[in-house]
Amino acid sequence: MGLSKTIWTNPTEFLKNQQPENPVLFFAPAVIQAMARRFLDGFPGLVTYAVKSNPGEEVIENLVAAGVQGFDCASPFEIDLIRRLAPDAAIHYNNPVRSRTEIKFGVDHRVKSWSVDSHSELAKLIDMVPAAGCEISVRFKLPVAGAAYNFGAKFGATEDVAVELLKTVASAGFIPSITFHPGTQCTDPAAWASYIRAAAVIASRAGVKIARLNVGGGFPNHRAHGILPQLEATFETIDRVASEAFGDERPALICEPGRGLCGDAFILAARVKAVRDGTHVFLNDGVYGSLFELGQIGIIDRIEVMDAEGHRRTGKVQGRICFGPTCDSVDRLPGDVPFPSDIAEGDYVLVQGMGAYSTVTNSRFNGFGELGRVTVLSAKL
Ligand SMILES: *Cc1c(COP(=O)(O)O)cnc(C)c1O
Repeated sequence: MGLSKTIWTNPTEFLKNQQPENPVLFFAPAVIQAMARRFLDGFPGLVTYAVKSNPGEEVIENLVAAGVQGFDCASPFEIDLIRRLAPDAAIHYNNPVRSRTEIKFGVDHRVKSWSVDSHSELAKLIDMVPAAGCEISVRFKLPVAGAAYNFGAKFGATEDVAVELLKTVASAGFIPSITFHPGTQCTDPAAWASYIRAAAVIASRAGVKIARLNVGGGFPNHRAHGILPQLEATFETIDRVASEAFGDERPALICEPGRGLCGDAFILAARVKAVRDGTHVFLNDGVYGSLFELGQIGIIDRIEVMDAEGHRRTGKVQGRICFGPTCDSVDRLPGDVPFPSDIAEGDYVLVQGMGAYSTVTNSRFNGFGELGRVTVLSAKL
């Protein structure tokens, strides 16, 4: 199934009319627009979007329409996409390791902000990027908890190295800034507070007044029943701690949410292929498809099940083993998945909050993974 030409009222209307055999990802533009406004109104600085979380053109276009003017890109593909859809937007090339070919691509595409976490990669940037009017952000990491997934395992300098990098950035004539990422799906505002305080110490030890502090992504989306992301409380913490930590030298702030902006604007409908001998549920989508991330950071429990006529299953919820469609035994959702007891072959399993790291990580392993894309007015089933 290709792109739908029609806008449907809600997922239920589409499912009972079309009874799709392949998984479908529903997109609710109204939700992403509202989320963008929440960030733009609430965050005390520049809101940029981390393109990698969902590079769908409909996502970028809706964010631009809502007023998002900056994008965090990690590759030439993403830079190209943004230059095409938002020619005048700010592009922050925040993948701290790049080949020389990629650096040249960024320079040629008017990238004015880069991040770095090592001496060797900073040397490449100094060699290839004209310094005038160009920002280099030093990315550092802390051993703090709070996120679903540790981003510090791959990127981020230690505080000592960050001090040295910041001095080199400033003396090479670039605009010096600092950046960090607290880890994705970070539900604890205190993680940002620790990072912001450490950033102020790094700047002061380096003797460098930084222009901007990029507080990363990591803003959570709504994955667990009854636990709503505390975005405004997080914005408030960031604002307050930035003033406390930097005082008169408070830098301009940037955030670069991916999941926080796009996550809740998509709902997945996967079909039950079989309930094997009354126990294991087999879906037509799994961890090699759009449910890849559940295997990494855990289950989303905002799940509802309906029959092919759109009637909600209301049996008592019980945990079951749930497999995806491929022949690989890795293709299993983590733990026990909460399904109503009357779930049956041919039903649809609807998973909310599926916008981030779902379309991008969907593989065609075993010939599965053909994902329908449908626009809906409302994310409510
Ligand atoms: C992935 C990433 C983001 C977005 O992270 P989310 O957890 O989706 O908000 C932001 N910045 C950088 C540098 C990233 O690598």
